[in-house]
Amino acid sequence: MSSQPETYEFQAESRQLLNLVVHSIYSNKDIFLRELISNASDALDKLRLESLLDSALDADTSDLHIALETDSEQRTLTVRDNGIGMSRDEVVQLIGTIAKSGTAEFARKLKEAREAQDAAASAELIGNFGVGFYSSFMVADKVSLVTRRAGEAEGTRWESSGEGTYTLAAVADAPQGTEVTLHLKPEDTEDHLYDYTAEHKLRAVVRQHSDFIPWPVRMETEKPKEGGEGGEGDEAGGTERVVETINSMKALWSRSADEITEDEYKEFYKHVSHDWTDPLETIHTRAEGTFEYQALLFIPSRAPLDLFQQGARRGVNLYVKRVFIMDDCESLLPDYLRFVKGVVDAQDLSLNVSRETLQQDRQIQLMHRRLVKKVLSSVKSMRTKDADKYRTFWGEFGRAVKEGLLSDYENREAILEVSSFPSTHDAEEQTGLRDYVSRMKEGQDAIYYLTGESRTRLENSPHMEAFREKGLEVLLLTDPVDEVWVEQVREFDGKPLQSIAKGQVDLDGEKDDEDDSAKDAKNAERAQREKDFGPLLGWLGTALAEDVKEVRLSSRLTTSPACIVGDADDVTPTLEKMYRAMGQELPRIKRILEINPDHPLVTALRASYEKDSGDAALTETAELLHGMALLAEGGELKDPARFTRVLAGRLAAGL
Ligand code: ADP
Ligand code: MG
Repeated sequence: MSSQPETYEFQAESRQLLNLVVHSIYSNKDIFLRELISNASDALDKLRLESLLDSALDADTSDLHIALETDSEQRTLTVRDNGIGMSRDEVVQLIGTIAKSGTAEFARKLKEAREAQDAAASAELIGNFGVGFYSSFMVADKVSLVTRRAGEAEGTRWESSGEGTYTLAAVADAPQGTEVTLHLKPEDTEDHLYDYTAEHKLRAVVRQHSDFIPWPVRMETEKPKEGGEGGEGDEAGGTERVVETINSMKALWSRSADEITEDEYKEFYKHVSHDWTDPLETIHTRAEGTFEYQALLFIPSRAPLDLFQQGARRGVNLYVKRVFIMDDCESLLPDYLRFVKGVVDAQDLSLNVSRETLQQDRQIQLMHRRLVKKVLSSVKSMRTKDADKYRTFWGEFGRAVKEGLLSDYENREAILEVSSFPSTHDAEEQTGLRDYVSRMKEGQDAIYYLTGESRTRLENSPHMEAFREKGLEVLLLTDPVDEVWVEQVREFDGKPLQSIAKGQVDLDGEKDDEDDSAKDAKNAERAQREKDFGPLLGWLGTALAEDVKEVRLSSRLTTSPACIVGDADDVTPTLEKMYRAMGQELPRIKRILEINPDHPLVTALRASYEKDSGDAALTETAELLHGMALLAEGGELKDPARFTRVLAGRLAAGL
C-alpha cells in the first residue's frame, strides 16, 4: 500500500553537513554523479553476494546494471540501479543520518575552526570530508529516492530539499533497487553548475570518474539511424534512441600497471575509499603461480579522523575472481596498517568465505604476509625517493605504524626501517634509526633514548645533562606507544636501544681517545669518591627507604643535584601513569635516586652529615633532594603540600 508522505527531521549532524553542501562548498560539483554511481555499484555488489549466499532470497539478478535517465524539460536526472535496495528503516538510518564514522569528529573540528574564524582550516576540513549521497544537493534543489529492498514487498519514497526535513512514504509498486531523482538547480557555469541532462556532459563525467565501475552504466542516447532504407547520410534515416553502456567496466586492478593513468588510479581510489582527496601512494601488485591474486592498494594522504577509535572502518575490499565478497576485510592487513585502502582480488578462494573462516584460511594468511611486506617496502622506497611524501606519511600514520613494533614480530626490522623519531640531533626533523646509527660516536655502542610526555620536558630533563655535554644524540620519544615498544624492541642493526633514564650509564667508557694511564687515574678517582660518599649514600638509602630502592652516585648529571632512574626492567613513570589511568593495579614502583657528587647541595649535605649525622634537618634535605629529582623528570610528589612547607621553611631559615 502506498501512503501519504510523513515529515521527519534530519539528525543535527546531517543538517549541519547538508547546510554546507547546499551552500556550495565544493567547487567540483561533477562528482555528485561519481557518488551516486558508486553507491549504486555497491548496491549491485551486495545483491550479487547476498543472492549467492542466500538462495532463498527472492531477487532478480539476471541483468544487474545502473541506468541514467534524463528529462531536459523537467530538468531531472535519475540514477537507477537494480541492486540490493533499502528497507524503510535503512533509509532512515543511512540517508536520514550520517552513519559514516568520524562525522561527529568532523563536525566538532569544523565548528572549532569556524569559531576560531580559521577559514583555511575549515576549507581544508570540508574539502577532505566526503559527503557521499548528500553531494546530490550540490546540484539539486530537491532529491527524491525510491527504493525497495530485495526480498521485501513494499518500497519507500524519501524526499528532501536538503534543508531541515525529509519526507517518507510507502510505495506499493516500487521496483527492486534504488532510483535517485535529482531536480536540478538552474545551470550556472560560473558556479560550476552544468547541464546534467546533456548526454555529452554525462558521458564525460562518467568516463572521468566512474569508468572502472564493474557494472554497466547505461544511458539512452540518440544515434543516427543505422541501415535505414535510404542508406548513410540520408536525411530520411533520421535518428533513433538506443541504449548504450557508457563505461568500460574494466576492473582496474586486473589491468597491467603501465596501461593505467595516474588519473584512473586516483578516481578508483576515491571510489573504494570514499575519500575525496588524492591518495599519497598507489601500490599495484600481483602474484602469479600456484596462488594468484591482484592487489591495488592505496595509502591516503590524510589519516581518517577515527584512526585511533575502536571499530573504525578499514579500507580493503576482498574480491574473488572479480566478484565482490566483502568490504572492510580485516584479515588482509594487520591492524597497524588499518589506514591502507584498496582491493584484493584472489583467484582461488571460495565465494563462500566468511569473515570467521577467512582468518584461518592458509591462502589469506599467505596474502596477508606478502601484502604487509609489500606495503612496508613501498614506504621504505618512498623514504629514499621522495622525502616530502614520506614525511607526510609518517606525520599522518606513524603512530599507527609503531603499534606494529609490538604486534608484528616478523616485520619488526622492516617497521623500524620505515620509522622516524624526534631526536636531539635536529629540533625540527625526525630521524630514522639508520641515520642515527651513522652518526654514532666512536666507541658509542648503544642507541640512546628517553621517553616522556613532551619534547621540552625531555630536553630539560636532568638525565640529559651529561649526554648533552658530551654531544651524544638521544631520541626523544613522546608518543604513548613509544613507552611500550621500547620495552620489547631491544636493538636495531645490532645496536642495543638504551634508555638514558634507566640502569647505569658509564659515559666515560665512551671515550677511546684516552690512554690507559688516564683511565686508571679516572678509576682511582671514582673509587675514592665511592669511598668518600659511602656513608652519606648509606644514610640516604635508609632515610628515603620508603620511596627509593637505592641511592647512588651519578655520572649523568652536570648541573642538577639529583635525578631518579629506573632499573633496566622497571616500568617508566609515564607508563606507570598510563596503566593507572587505564585502571590497572600496579604495585608501587621504587626507583633509584642518583646524586651528583659535584653539586654544591650534595657536597654541603655530605659536609653537614659528617659534622653531625643526627641533625634533624638532614632528613628534610634528603626529602627535598628526592622531591626535586621527581619534579625535574615531570613526576608527581607524594605530598606536594608537605614538600612546599619544608622548602619554604628551609628557604626562610637561610635568609
Ligand atoms: P557511503 O557510500 O560512504 O557509505 P553515502 O552517503 O554515499 O555514504 O551512502 C550512505 C549509505 O546509504 C550507503 O552506505 C548505503 O548503505 C546506502 N545507500 C546509498 N545509496 C544506495 C543505493 N543506491 N542502494 C542501496 N543503498 C544505498
Ligand atoms: Mg557512497
